[in-house]
Amino acid sequence: PCTDYDMAYFKAYSHIGVHEEMLKDHVRTNTYRNAIMHHQDLISGKVVLDVGCGTGVLSIFCAFAGATRVYAVDASDIALQAMEIVRENELSDKVIVLHDRIEDVEIEEKVDVIISEWMGYMLLSESMLGSVIFARDKWLKPGGLILPSHASLYLAPITNSQRYQDSVYFWRDVYGIKMSSMMPLAKQCAFMEPSVETISGENVLTWPTVVAQVDCYTIQALQLETFTATFKYTSMLQAPLHGFAFWFDVEFNGPVRQKSKKQASQSMDGNPQNASPSNKKKKPDVSIVLSTAPEDAPTHWQQTLLYLFEPIELKKDQNIEGSITISQSQQHARFLNICLKYFTGDQWYVKESVMR
Ligand code: SAH
Repeated sequence: PCTDYDMAYFKAYSHIGVHEEMLKDHVRTNTYRNAIMHHQDLISGKVVLDVGCGTGVLSIFCAFAGATRVYAVDASDIALQAMEIVRENELSDKVIVLHDRIEDVEIEEKVDVIISEWMGYMLLSESMLGSVIFARDKWLKPGGLILPSHASLYLAPITNSQRYQDSVYFWRDVYGIKMSSMMPLAKQCAFMEPSVETISGENVLTWPTVVAQVDCYTIQALQLETFTATFKYTSMLQAPLHGFAFWFDVEFNGPVRQKSKKQASQSMDGNPQNASPSNKKKKPDVSIVLSTAPEDAPTHWQQTLLYLFEPIELKKDQNIEGSITISQSQQHARFLNICLKYFTGDQWYVKESVMR
């Protein structure tokens, strides 16, 4: 059933601003286009389903790649604009825009390809992946293509003195007036909930751990409800620990994974304490990746930060261990409850927050 929360969610996507932001995110949109062209042989002459088409951009890329028919589905009123855009591009015979929830829409045939841009902040906020799973199980032909095919969520400890300065120490001296009494409130307001902002590779204290790995071909909705990963980092620097950062990447691999000799070089190799089985995962030789890592070109997803109320002075090679649990909120399925537990040698801390 379509809840009030869903109504509000789809209403948010009827505004031009969100679509403009996504389309102006060249890293995002060009990577999707490259991935579509890379898999042209699997798209040309085939039937495609675009889950959450927005302006129809990905559907139209698929039509350009030679798709025979594209079902472009969106529950938001942006679908009305997508219809106009399809018409304007003289693709009405190929791209069929359906203004409905994917869960409610009727499509009379199975599809060869599912494409979707479902990723939210820290990958899983908005919980739209469930709708892609629904579409996959209902319409995708066996052996069909899903783009993107794989996703990984990362977590790493970070230092960010500038942010602490701007939000907390700022109150020490305001126009010569002492306002330190504001600092507890300032910490509450700035650091209570996760914060979406851009950091750089220099803020990151060590290699990230993989906290979740999604294979879009096989993942089940149940697996997304709650999951926990443990971590053990060794700080590569002496620096204050200000918090932890999430980021993600998605890959655009075909349905049959090739065997590869060498693993993709990125991120998590060389981390023996890696919390997930990821370092055993084989990656194909050529993989198109959309990354939102701090060391890569910025995207509108930025990074998602969990700040500590009190920084912890870390020595080089000091260990930070703990766990992270991410669960879909019971009250609001599109929100995520985050429970972070960490230990740097003296005491355990627990930080609970909600990603809205
Ligand atoms: N594909 C577009 C838009 C991506 S944003 C682009 O790449 O630019 C995600 C879109 O999915 C939003 O427009 C939202 O309204 C839609 N969406 C999310 N969940 C949906 C569902 N269950 N059914 C239909 N549309 C959905």
